[in-house]
This record gives sequence, C-alpha cells and structure tokens, in this order.
Amino acid sequence: MDELAELYQSILLEHNKNPHNKKKIQCVSCSAEGYNATCGDEINVDLELDNDVIKDIGFTGQGCAISQASGSLMTLFVQGKPKQEAAELANKVIGMLAGDAPIDPAQWGDLAALGGVRQFPARIKCATLAWHALLSALKQ
Ligand code: ZN
Repeated sequence: MDELAELYQSILLEHNKNPHNKKKIQCVSCSAEGYNATCGDEINVDLELDNDVIKDIGFTGQGCAISQASGSLMTLFVQGKPKQEAAELANKVIGMLAGDAPIDPAQWGDLAALGGVRQFPARIKCATLAWHALLSALKQ
C-alpha cells in the first residue's frame, strides 16, 4: 500500500472510530434513510434547516467502517452550508466515486479519502450511501 492510500485508510478508520455528528438532533426539518443491501449498511440523516441553510445535521446508523466514516465526513462538510451547495457537493462526491478522474487532495480535503474506495468497486455504494440519504433529505 502506498503512503497516500495508507493516509486515506487512516482518515476513514478514525472517522469510523470517532464519528462526528453521530447523534439525533432536537429539531428535525427533514430526514431520510438509506440502506445498502449489498453490505447491510444503514444510515439515517436528520437536518435542521434555517432559511435553507443546514443549521444542524446528525446521522445515525450502523454498518461497515466505510459507510459510517462517509456519514461522519458528510456531516462535517455540509454543516452550515446552504441546501443548494450541500446538494451540489453530494452530487460531486457521488460523481467522483463513480468516475476515474484523478483526485486532487487540495481540492477535496479529507473527502479525498473516500476516493480511495474506488479501488474496491463493490464498496463504492458504502461510500455513497450517506450522500444519497442527504440528497433525499434535501428533496423533502
Ligand atoms: Zn458497507
């Protein structure tokens, strides 16, 4: 495993071990559930919106390390963002995982770690689950 792959794996493991925003939030404006049958991952995303801005976000669920780490990263990257921007980011991440374009760590920050999952095509759905759940929650 090269250095970058090792770094990506340690980011995912750390997020799985100490997930951010893995909580039920008080005031739920919209929520959505995602289920990945291939792996048995479950993610529920709750949003509190204030004038179309994501004021608070929480996720709950269980599943493999990739699915839970992706949920944790997702909440960090969309909290405080307008709905529209959060949806654009979700679509970008899903597109990045589906594609094979080089991933620039300067552009993606820690989200680049999710790109490491592209080496394991069977696990891509684990990584996109939280982002699909976010998109469904935003559509409500
Ligand atoms: Zn999984």
